[in-house]
Amino acid sequence: MKQGKRKIRAVLALVLTLALVLPLAGPAAVLPASAVTQAEIDALKNDASDLADQKKEIQAQLNEVKEDKDAALEQKQLLEEQIEVIRLEISNINTQIATYEDLIDQKSQELAQSEAQEQEQYELFCSRVRAMEEEGETSYWAILFGSSDFSELLDNYMMIEEIIEYDNSVMEALARLQEQVEQEKAELEEAKAAQEEAKAKQQAAQAELQTQEDAVDQVIAQISSQESQLKAMEAELNRAATALDSQIKDLERQMSAQINNVPSESGFLWPLAANINVLSSLYGSRPDPFTGRPDNHTGIDIPASRGTPIYASKSGVVITSVYGTGSAWSYGNYVVVSHSDGTSTLYAHMSSRAVSQGQTVNQGDVVGYVGTTGNSTGNHLHFEIRVNGSRVDPLNYFKDLTLYYRSGGQKVKLDL
Ligand SMILES: [Zn+2]
Repeated sequence: MKQGKRKIRAVLALVLTLALVLPLAGPAAVLPASAVTQAEIDALKNDASDLADQKKEIQAQLNEVKEDKDAALEQKQLLEEQIEVIRLEISNINTQIATYEDLIDQKSQELAQSEAQEQEQYELFCSRVRAMEEEGETSYWAILFGSSDFSELLDNYMMIEEIIEYDNSVMEALARLQEQVEQEKAELEEAKAAQEEAKAKQQAAQAELQTQEDAVDQVIAQISSQESQLKAMEAELNRAATALDSQIKDLERQMSAQINNVPSESGFLWPLAANINVLSSLYGSRPDPFTGRPDNHTGIDIPASRGTPIYASKSGVVITSVYGTGSAWSYGNYVVVSHSDGTSTLYAHMSSRAVSQGQTVNQGDVVGYVGTTGNSTGNHLHFEIRVNGSRVDPLNYFKDLTLYYRSGGQKVKLDL
């Protein structure tokens, strides 16, 4: 656990470092577009990759912490099950103790009853003796010797003996009964005491388990606090990563704007880098480059080195991305993007295509790379704009650009 805490601190330090670095990187987004370099973007991408690594590390730690927590929770559950077993056991013992208490009460009542009977019997005996004494005699012996004749003496003797025997037997029976009840009561009290002892033992075991559970609860609380600390770091990293990503996207957009012209007033973007602005062929009549005979050129040609990126002039859906065959063979590798305003743009003679049919593209996205496939004598982009299917002069849409036309050795600025 101590190990985990150290790791957390190390990562926290990194997060804090980034939190300090990121706001400093922020102002780059408002620098003039020309200041953006690929190296700058690459450095930010490195930062983003570092953040992703840190996030992975935190996620690994979170997984470890979760495992620890699960183990502790399992232990807690086990302890609670044991405590529950003991709780039931104590409840059973309590029931037994209550039963013993009832039985002991019963025995106490029996004892009281037999004591009362004994007392009653004793009093009866005393009253008999008193009655005899009140008749003028002072004792059994007096009764015996007070007999007028032997027959009366025998009668009196028998009577006295019977009374004594009867009294004795009753008193003895009562005493035996009392002794028995007292013994039974003592046995019950012994049994009850044994149960009380068992109860005390179970309560001690319960207290021990409760102590263990309290300790586990503390561990769980510690783990949970670690967990929330890690989650907070993860959230912080996510926030930093999101901020960094949007910063990178901003810079990339600026970079792209540096490479490309901003969209013209008509909303179309020059399909090549801004500095590739010399045309070799205009729209309309011109001699066929192969036969030299007059031909109607369907777009504009812009020479550029092989592999130069070609950008979508407007956002839209790629409706064609093929190597041209049949009547379209002359286009070579070409792409047509359909825009929502009824216009479409065509990019031909590509060395390779970067989009496929059906794909949605944003203005400025790379759709392919300059090449010389199809009816072409050198690396160049053949670019067309169509309005509701009819070809128009693309330059009508770039009147606010500075473009040149090279014919033979002469480069002239186009008057748009
Ligand atoms: Zn062309």
